[in-house]
Amino acid sequence: MVIAIIACEITSSKPTDMSNRLLIFLALMVSTSAALCQSTSQHIDFEKYDPVSTLVVPQHVVTHAKFPFIDVHNHQWNMASQDLSELTGSMDTLNMKVMVNLSGSNGNNLQRMAENVRSHYPNRFIIFANITFDGIGNNGWTEKAVKQLEEDVKHGANGLKIFKSLGFSVKDNTGKLVRIDDPRLDAIWEKCAELKIPVLIHSADPKPFWFPEDEHNERWLEIATHPGRKRSDTDPAPWDTLIQEQHNVFRKHANTIFIAAHFGWYANDLVTLGKLLDSLPNVYTEFGAVIAELGRQPRAAKAFFEKYQDRILFGKDSWVPEEYTTYFRVLETEDEYFPYHKKYHAFWAMYGMGLPDNILKKVYYKNALKIIPNIDKTLFPD
Ligand SMILES: [Zn+2]
Repeated sequence: MVIAIIACEITSSKPTDMSNRLLIFLALMVSTSAALCQSTSQHIDFEKYDPVSTLVVPQHVVTHAKFPFIDVHNHQWNMASQDLSELTGSMDTLNMKVMVNLSGSNGNNLQRMAENVRSHYPNRFIIFANITFDGIGNNGWTEKAVKQLEEDVKHGANGLKIFKSLGFSVKDNTGKLVRIDDPRLDAIWEKCAELKIPVLIHSADPKPFWFPEDEHNERWLEIATHPGRKRSDTDPAPWDTLIQEQHNVFRKHANTIFIAAHFGWYANDLVTLGKLLDSLPNVYTEFGAVIAELGRQPRAAKAFFEKYQDRILFGKDSWVPEEYTTYFRVLETEDEYFPYHKKYHAFWAMYGMGLPDNILKKVYYKNALKIIPNIDKTLFPD
């Protein structure tokens, strides 16, 4: 306001007074801006800054998926002894008909999990087995692991989950890091093809974990709050190397169905993910923990879902029922600029893709029914 008045005065002054007036004006400008700076100088941490959007647009909060769905990426560590009624209650609220528990372990533990499911909710859960990598390199390790997997499938496992520890921390009997494409694992991938079970594999982590931890890093907040997630080219290996090792496995075992977890960490580069899917027809993918990448590029993501509608499965990863609404809303609605639930994944807002029903059905259940055995098809519409 002060500036406006002075400026008006200057424009109406005679040229002879101009220099003095200009000096006064500049002096006032400086003091005004100093005062303004002072009034807004309260520093707000990036972590704390959480502005409430003033945008007024149509809102369609979705807490119950439009179609019954299968979550192919979930973890229930205590399924052997867990009371499953509470879990199925939460699943019903979301319209989740089947949950795939990727933390099935193996052997006795897996058998007990499968037994708990069979005796209480036989058609609501699918269990994936895990490999115990201890002792890899010892004589007969591979044969033993393959035999264990066969047993686990006999006892009720319907898939194999490989955690990111393979490539990150799994060491062989000589202390050497085991590559994801280590040939000692080949027989396991081949056995999965023979048993007609898919392998859901998580390798590496978001690429920015390998970038410098600075103001240019999109995952700066996640690294700052979870320092253990920071990676480098030597800890344990370059991102590209790990991703290539994973792709080598996909390529070498063309008869095995693989589900690349977390969009293969290419949710922020759908062109590259598309090329991967084009070149490897045995590979599927799921969007657990990366919906924020899709929600910031709704048009490109929708085009991707249209093109690869037969290759994408619904996955969420962490079991926080109230977070599913973000997934439903990005998939189903055309809502604009709505919040994501975890700032360290995304400090940006979401936009919905508004997928048509035929694609939603494929993503929610049809694609999973195609590649994961023994899911009760009667739970889902045609
Ligand atoms: Zn997971």
